[in-house]
Amino acid sequence: MTQRIAVVTGANKGIGFEICRQLATQSVNVVLTARNRLRGERAAAALQSEGLNVIFRPLDVTDHDECEALANYMERTHGRCDILINNAGILIEKWAASVLDAKADTFRSTLETNFFGALWMAQALIPLMRQHRYGRIVNLSSGLGQLDAMGDGTPAYRVSKTALNALTCMLADATRTSGILVNSMCPGWVRTDMGGASAARSVKKGAETAIWLATLSATSSNDGPTGGFFRDRKRIPW
Ligand code: NAP
Repeated sequence: MTQRIAVVTGANKGIGFEICRQLATQSVNVVLTARNRLRGERAAAALQSEGLNVIFRPLDVTDHDECEALANYMERTHGRCDILINNAGILIEKWAASVLDAKADTFRSTLETNFFGALWMAQALIPLMRQHRYGRIVNLSSGLGQLDAMGDGTPAYRVSKTALNALTCMLADATRTSGILVNSMCPGWVRTDMGGASAARSVKKGAETAIWLATLSATSSNDGPTGGFFRDRKRIPW
């Protein structure tokens, strides 16, 4: 049985932190990454104190060079990367922000993290996954990115998640038959700094579907879905 190793982005708090905990609890080695060294080291230390196999590496996903450096570290130190969780995300608009007042800079900053960050990480790590004919990529998307239910409010965030979903489909197609499964998921409305204190779900519940997708059918890459969008382990419309 191969010891799996995962990279989780934006994992110093919130859903990403909980994903690290749940993966490590399932005996996956976890590389917890964060853009702030101190916050990342503290988060990793908290999970290590629970007896979990988690190490910290610094990573700002908007920095292309840092994404490539992280992939080089994975190859050099661990020789593989089995799981990539593109969790890092920002929402810098007010909930009521309208597309009628939207500013280009808000779109650019949001896309830098929520879209380009995931693209750089996938491009950096898929070659290593291909070498081992195994990979699970989970993109933390949102129901707010669904074209099926598109409306006004947080326009830059919505566009970034729609774009992330398109990336999921493209990556799934580009990696078909190489043992790599790529999927989007929506965690629901979760109590984090982003979701706020009134959100309906715990981080534990919010992380569950990401864990399921990250650990799909360890024996055969053809057993699991790829190129899908899921919430609560069920497919949802794009
Ligand atoms: P959160 O508590 O705000 O955490 C976001 C994480 O992303 C933080 O660790 C943050 O780091 C990190 N991050 C932001 N920009 C980054 C960058 N450039 N490089 C590396 N890390 C960066 O948010 P969350 O609720 O856990 O959300 C996690 C994911 O789920 C996001 O993609 C979000 O869009 C998605 N989601 C959340 C909800 C919800 O209700 N909470 C619903 C749907 C989807 P810092 O601490 O340094 O800022």
